[in-house]
This record gives sequence, structure tokens and C-alpha cells, in this order.
Amino acid sequence: MFDVVTGGAGFIGSHLVDSLVARGRDVLVIDSLCAGKQVTIAGHLASGRVRILQMDLLTDGWQDSLKGAGCVYHLAADPDVRQSAMTPEPTFRNNIAATYRVLEAMRIHGILNLVFTSTSTVYGNATVIPTPENYTPLEPVSVYGGSKLACEALISAYCHSFGMKSWQFRFANIIGARSGHGVITDFVRKLKENQKELEILGDGKQTKSYLEVHECVEAMHFAMAHSKNPVNIFNIGSEDWIDVRSIADILVEEMHLPGVKYRFTGGALGWVGDVPKMQLAVDRIKGLGWKPRLGSRESVRIAVRAALEGQ
Ligand code: NAD
Repeated sequence: MFDVVTGGAGFIGSHLVDSLVARGRDVLVIDSLCAGKQVTIAGHLASGRVRILQMDLLTDGWQDSLKGAGCVYHLAADPDVRQSAMTPEPTFRNNIAATYRVLEAMRIHGILNLVFTSTSTVYGNATVIPTPENYTPLEPVSVYGGSKLACEALISAYCHSFGMKSWQFRFANIIGARSGHGVITDFVRKLKENQKELEILGDGKQTKSYLEVHECVEAMHFAMAHSKNPVNIFNIGSEDWIDVRSIADILVEEMHLPGVKYRFTGGALGWVGDVPKMQLAVDRIKGLGWKPRLGSRESVRIAVRAALEGQ
């Protein structure tokens, strides 16, 4: 029996593939490589434990390869929250349409287990922080958050209609080696170009929860092993938060650039659809026996060091 990881050559997907191989699973990665890189799973491809189908989920031809899979981990998506306000179409296609196509392929081939990577942005500007899974109303403020909430709803309907089980993980900001987007990637790129000034989107006071990617993947496996409802929804994040200015400070310290001036673009939001305060309540997964070891600050430092080492 093998598992399928869509988006398995991406940031979180490649770490998930590492963990599945370590657990003795064979893996089929389906990834268009529009953002992912084959090099992230090259060792596994060489060992024969992992195969890759370089295909876009929006095209046909990959569906039959799901036959006989134990579980589909569906991570492929357009994860760019900021861009989703400027050009919503790719978000709709790569998130909602692609998820529908994965569900249909699973239904046709009788694959019953699905893992879906959702997001804290389904909560929008929540008035309860830390925000628990049963918080309402779910009122996303970004096209990206809306697209993920639509996927959650569709997955729920497929689970109840066709006897499937799903684990839907609402991630805080996941960071670490191999990440190709997000605030740390953005700051490292800018500081490599200009060591005198760092542009910070918004007022730098946006305060959010960050979790290192290995912890995230560990939490996913733990939750799956301990929950068996048709639809299992879990927040995954650290138990604290950090503001954007402090992330810049850590980066400047790690790069030994004490003279850098910060230039804030201004306003409470970094971009249209930004959520300036986000921390997830993780009591549900803690109730099963898993808790994050790292806080946001430590996770940021690990991710900054990985980014500076070119990982
Ligand atoms: P990523 O961009 O590194 O990975 C996404 C992968 O999907 C890439 O390898 C890309 O090539 C592939 N892909 C995209 N569209 C595709 C398509 N149509 N067909 C086939 N492959 C396609 O992003 P990531 O940060 O690793 O995110 C993984 C998942 O976790 C996404 O679903 C994202 O929405 C979700 N998520 C991430 C975070 C985070 O902080 N990184 C937070 C919340 C949720």
C-alpha cells in the first residue's frame, strides 16, 4: 500500500514525504513543480521509495494513479494570500477546482482517507484569540482563506456522502527549511539585495503564531492516529505569537547587520486580506496528547538560520 502526496515537492509536502518514508510508507508525489522543486525529494526518488508524477491537478491523466492508495495527502495549492487579492483566478483553480478534482478521483477509485491542509485564515479577524476550531462565524477576509473554507465544506460533504474520512488541518504560519514564501523568505531576499534598509509591509505590529515545519508534520501524524470521525478538524500552531518587527530584529541579529533601517509601508495590514492578529487554540490536539515543543520565537530563529544557510 502506498500514499499519495499532492504538492509533495513543495515546502511542507517534502517534509511530509520525509516523514512518511521514515514510517515505512511508499509514496507517490503528484506535483506540477509550479512552485515545488524535485530536488527536495531527490534522495527518496533515487532510493525508489518515492515516485513522482509531474502533472497539474487541473489537467487529466493522473487520476488512475490513485488506484490502491491508502491515503491522499492533498497539499497542492496556491498558498499566496497576498496575491489572491490581486488575481483571484489561480486561487480558485488551484485550490477549489483542484480539490474537487482530487475528491472526484478518490470517489471513483474508492480511496477513503484524505488529509487536507487548511489554514488559520478561515477564521478571518476572529474576536476570540487564541481561536478554537469551533469558533463562529467563519468569515474569511482573503480570497485564499475563502477558497480553503470552500474546500473544507466540499470535503465534509464528500466524507458524509461517500463514506470517506478526512483530517483537515488549520495551520498557523508554518516555517522552516525549504520554505519558498512568507515573511522570512521575503525579508531574507530583501536584505540580500539591500543591507541598509528593510521594507516592512504594514506597521510591523501584525502579531501571529509561527510553528516549525517538523513539529507541524509530527502533529498531523499524531492527530491522524488518534481521531477517526468522518471529519476531523484540528488547529496546528504554537502556543504564543510574535510581531513582524521582532521577526525582522531576529533576522538582523542573525545576519549581523545592526545598522539596517526599517521602512514601514504603513497601516495595520500588510496587504489586502491580511489578518493582523492570529493565534490558534490548540487544546483539541493537546487533549489527544500532543503539544508543540517550540514557541513562535524559537521557530522563527530556526527558520531564519535555515534560510540563511540556503536550505
Ligand atoms: P508550496 O507552494 O511550497 O507547496 C505547494 C505545492 O503544490 C508546490 O510544490 C506546487 O508546485 C504544487 N502545486 C500547486 N498547484 C498545483 C497544481 N494545480 N497541480 C499540482 N501541483 C500543484 O506551499 P506550502 O507552504 O508547502 O503549502 C502546502 C499546503 O499547506 C498548501 O495547501 C497551503 O495552502 C497549506 N498551508 C500552508 C501554510 C504555511 O504557512 N506554509 C499555512 C496554512 C496552510
